[in-house]
Amino acid sequence: MSQTLIRNATIMTMDAERGTVPFEGDVLVDETTIKAIGPDLAAEPGAAVVDGRRKLVMPGLVNAHTHSSETFFRGRYEKMPLEVWLLYAYPLLMGPVIEPRLLYLRSLLLAMESLKSGVTTMSDCFFDPPRHELERLGAVFQAYDDAGIRANVSSGVMNIHTLDALPFAREVIPRDVQETLQFGPPITAEAYLDYCRAAIEAFDGISGRLKFMIAPSAPQRCTADLLTGCYALALERSLPFHSHVLETITQAVTGPELYGKSLVRYMADLGVLGRNTTIAHSVWVDDADMALMGEAGVTVVHNAVSNLKLGAGVAPVRRLMHAGVTIALGTDGVSSNDTASIFDVMRVAGLLHGASGPDHATWLSASELLQAATVGGARSAMLEGVTGSLEPGKAADLIMLDLDAYAFTPLNDIARHLVYAANGGHVDLVMVGGEVVMRDGRLTRVDEAAVLAEIRERVPAYLAGHTEVEARNRALEPWFTEIHRRSAARHTGVYRYAGDAALWPRNW
Ligand SMILES: [Zn+2]
Repeated sequence: MSQTLIRNATIMTMDAERGTVPFEGDVLVDETTIKAIGPDLAAEPGAAVVDGRRKLVMPGLVNAHTHSSETFFRGRYEKMPLEVWLLYAYPLLMGPVIEPRLLYLRSLLLAMESLKSGVTTMSDCFFDPPRHELERLGAVFQAYDDAGIRANVSSGVMNIHTLDALPFAREVIPRDVQETLQFGPPITAEAYLDYCRAAIEAFDGISGRLKFMIAPSAPQRCTADLLTGCYALALERSLPFHSHVLETITQAVTGPELYGKSLVRYMADLGVLGRNTTIAHSVWVDDADMALMGEAGVTVVHNAVSNLKLGAGVAPVRRLMHAGVTIALGTDGVSSNDTASIFDVMRVAGLLHGASGPDHATWLSASELLQAATVGGARSAMLEGVTGSLEPGKAADLIMLDLDAYAFTPLNDIARHLVYAANGGHVDLVMVGGEVVMRDGRLTRVDEAAVLAEIRERVPAYLAGHTEVEARNRALEPWFTEIHRRSAARHTGVYRYAGDAALWPRNW
């Protein structure tokens, strides 16, 4: 690999100066980085030349929150709030852990789908209970290394029993049933932090594209010493501290019930809100929470599709932006979303916020959504110096879309076409770190047909086992439904809420 010159393209850099304003020109890539952007660039002899005519070149998209653990559960569930869905997608009564080859394929499939829909960077909040094992984490890193995607990968952790992280659980669930849900001592903060240090040593920085990410699952699911230890390590190693906060109405009740304050206030008091902190969801935050988050400089990942699929609500994105919070976009896992497409998330988010109130000045613009899907995501991943915009010196993480497609014909405003008309299928070239990893719609590093065939052959047996696990967990569903209902009642005063109006008014 030496130089690549993309000539005569329509370019959208997403940099601070030009944002979403397109212009015509060339992009010169030298090894892994962008060397120059402008008219009539000259490349060294032997450079690969890509014809950019009738193509849009823009930064690769960043999926700032996903979970590879869910990739085989696409299209499997519906009509469940988070607390019920978790029983099936992350069963409390676990079955055998997924075997190593399937673990690898599950992550590879996510990377493949991501690249094919224009995502060049993703933050995978990988969760692999009940243990933390470097070899299994290594299979995930290996899959991303093989696919050629840029990724942050965690080994998500929780060390508080699920029933102690949910309001009302101990009073709702019969004592004899609780007895059957004893899973032995949870991991200590010290042991987990040792594991993280070993994982950083083993995997952080490999290929120049992969990083480790510290991901305590949620404040109410981790002990205070685990949260503060994770945050200190994230600061020490300049890594993201990535957590789920206030996704559901149950979680809105959790803080006051367990700590006498909101979960965001609880995190602020522990000192774990800061520039390294990424908060996934942030649906049920109040003004005081948002002020704390803005002051601390956190990033929020808006998972618009997942939040609708699980009936979680609508994050107050405009108010978060006013408070000074950076916004990124995430799909969340492929089970609570059903695709890994950030184009889908942009479009849904763009449409959704029109329903958040009549003041159309507060609705989100295509340009703001593209910002969230690129530079906002890069900041969340702590990669803003590396990716998210096309600028000399940054990694050549870019995608090329076909402007002759129906979605861009006739052409009005490219940013609006991208958000409201385009989808991942319009991406025909993807470059990560200067390497073309997809060309003419085909991945260059992976034998797609062979991988998909192997998945079709091997996964049904795994899913049959999972069906049995689901059956055992189904017995718990009525109590988890009751926890969800009681929380909604506590928060809204309505025990059986009658549609959206009762669930969402706080955010309007
Ligand atoms: Zn998530």
